[in-house]
Amino acid sequence: MSIAYLEKLNDAQRRAVEHGSDVPNGGAAGPLLVIAGAGSGKTNTLAHRVAHLIVSGADPRRILLMTFSRRAASEMARRVERICKQVLGANAGVMTDALAWAGTFHGIGARILRLYAQQIGLDPDFTIHDREDSADLMNLVRHELGFSKMESRFPTKGTCLAIYSRAVNSETPLDEVLKGQFPWCLNWEKQLRELFGAYVEAKQAQNVLDYDDLLLYWAQMMAEPAIAEDVGTRFDHVLVDEYQDTNRLQSSILMAIKPGGRGLTVVGDDAQSIYSFRAATIRNILDFPASFDPPAQIVTLDRNYRSTTTILAAANGVIDLARERFTKNLWTDREAEERPRLVTVKDEAEQANYIVEKVLENREAGMTLKNQAVLFRASHHSGPLEVELTRRNIPFVKFGGLKFLDSAHVKDMLAALRFAQNPRDRVSGFRLMQLIPGVGPQTAGKILDAISADPEPLAALEEIPAPPRSGADWPAFVEMLSAVRRKEGWPSEIGLARQWYEPHLERIHEDAETRKADLLQLEQIAAGYASRERFLTELTLDPPDATSAEAGVPLLDEDYLILSTIHSAKGQEWRSVFLLNCVDGCIPSDLGTGSTAELEEERRLLYVAMTRAKDHLHLITPQRFFVHGQQSQGDRHVYASRSRFIPATLLQFFETTAWPVVAPMSDAERQHRQQVRIDVTARMRGMWR
Ligand code: ATP
Ligand code: MG
Repeated sequence: MSIAYLEKLNDAQRRAVEHGSDVPNGGAAGPLLVIAGAGSGKTNTLAHRVAHLIVSGADPRRILLMTFSRRAASEMARRVERICKQVLGANAGVMTDALAWAGTFHGIGARILRLYAQQIGLDPDFTIHDREDSADLMNLVRHELGFSKMESRFPTKGTCLAIYSRAVNSETPLDEVLKGQFPWCLNWEKQLRELFGAYVEAKQAQNVLDYDDLLLYWAQMMAEPAIAEDVGTRFDHVLVDEYQDTNRLQSSILMAIKPGGRGLTVVGDDAQSIYSFRAATIRNILDFPASFDPPAQIVTLDRNYRSTTTILAAANGVIDLARERFTKNLWTDREAEERPRLVTVKDEAEQANYIVEKVLENREAGMTLKNQAVLFRASHHSGPLEVELTRRNIPFVKFGGLKFLDSAHVKDMLAALRFAQNPRDRVSGFRLMQLIPGVGPQTAGKILDAISADPEPLAALEEIPAPPRSGADWPAFVEMLSAVRRKEGWPSEIGLARQWYEPHLERIHEDAETRKADLLQLEQIAAGYASRERFLTELTLDPPDATSAEAGVPLLDEDYLILSTIHSAKGQEWRSVFLLNCVDGCIPSDLGTGSTAELEEERRLLYVAMTRAKDHLHLITPQRFFVHGQQSQGDRHVYASRSRFIPATLLQFFETTAWPVVAPMSDAERQHRQQVRIDVTARMRGMWR
């Protein structure tokens, strides 16, 4: 057997890939942890390990592979196939197609729950609520309990949901969560408890699960030994990437699948832990080895293959100032001609100009747009840049921002499919019935009450007399649902929903034509999924990203610039990386300076951003910001200073430049600057009001 792909790995990588190779037929060895710094080949090693298992005889249908995003999962599957091809030739495709259990924790959770639904008292037709749906339902329940009318202000639906989510994901009692993260809500503990109880009941009555439920139900289900064993024996190998960003529920699920750790491989970097705001905990990865007896084998990697020496030196400089000691010392032999740049610009408009100039220069020099990315701490930071890119006709795709699915018309269509699948889903039902003339919220509520009590809710709906003044729209609505429900074949049923919806769309929206194009696009996306359930589940959990192209995602062979939040850039790399707003107030975000722990997470975020770059890195510092008027103050400029994570002692790692060359400041301006408080804070807070 040729093992050319093993020769390309370094010794440590190879040890991780071959761990347990002495077990016959790709069988399972003891637990393995690969803990290593950015760009050291962790993901690449994981892909090789999966491929090597398959080549050695493991059954790909019995491999569970969990990654941070669906995109990462499919990228991994592609890599696995490429590696397998070297040995298996044409058969590789068949083998890797059988790698059916690759996805995110949430996506896999949804599939497992549907499989075991009947045994745990769930209806397998459950629908999944995204964050916005969940907030709507939370609001509804909050309203019904009369909390929204309280004299002193009760927490908003968003805050309620955040508290609930935190408590659930960290498996922490409510009072502790309140004390720790939401002290201003402590007075409301009793009401919140009541609210969450009612929220859970509402979800169950409507047969919906929210994001958190997918993990929570899964973990609860795994507490039942017979089921845990059944799930465990489905998989010979369980592998997880980006393990530093998992929460306690996720680790308890993993431990329940493979209690002895046999067949378990996890990979991650504690220095890149950036999801503690979603209850992820660094303890998972640190405590992993000792969770088993004998403890897990640990492999560390110290060679970085991604970045040049100068970029790595600067990134190491930033992370070395962290309070926590990350013991990894990365090195690289990718010599560089230049140091990363720290560029001062006048304001956000200049920042956008600078980037456009450099991006175009790079393209002239032969670097495609796809090899370049602009990263930012918060999605709204890229506004001025998006305007400039559009004006200059530079195509771009934005990750981690507004999603394609957030638009009203796409949500309407999805509601139709969801409601047909699960007519107890009130949020979808409400949404749809509001489209029908003559049906107000009260009527919709009554209809939904009536049908949800019926064991056959859709049949019950057919029996209900048409509401007054709804005319032909009512029977058309009911007929559409039945037709979709009959499952005449996926994805053609989505066409049925669209035909029903279009007249409503034309009535409601002036720009109906553009929106119709989106719906066609949705159908194209739908065609990529095996069934309605898979489509709805995966789309809700990990929606495609909004883009600059009018009709949605540009074709894959087109060239476009990547815009991404740092969070969504995890695990990826580009030849050239620009970081927007490298200033205090943005990174660290003012929302993240409340505690040392938060501040340290912001520092790791900067580290993650910098380590995405292979050849060129530009950190940009606008000297001032434009703040849109808030309640008390009008539009104004505020002054910003370089991120505190790059103190003067680190400047040696950078090329510091100004662009365009800025004239020395006049006395008048200096005086003015001293008068205006350095306060990006207000702007950031404004975004959360
Ligand atoms: P991150 O921490 O950002 O997730 P990572 O540790 O997962 O990074 P990879 O993305 O797997 O790192 O690899 C980084 C880059 O190094 C990739 O371009 C990969 O192809 C390359 N690489 C990894 N291992 C090797 C190797 N042995 N030889 C050559 N290139 C390698
Ligand atoms: Mg990786």
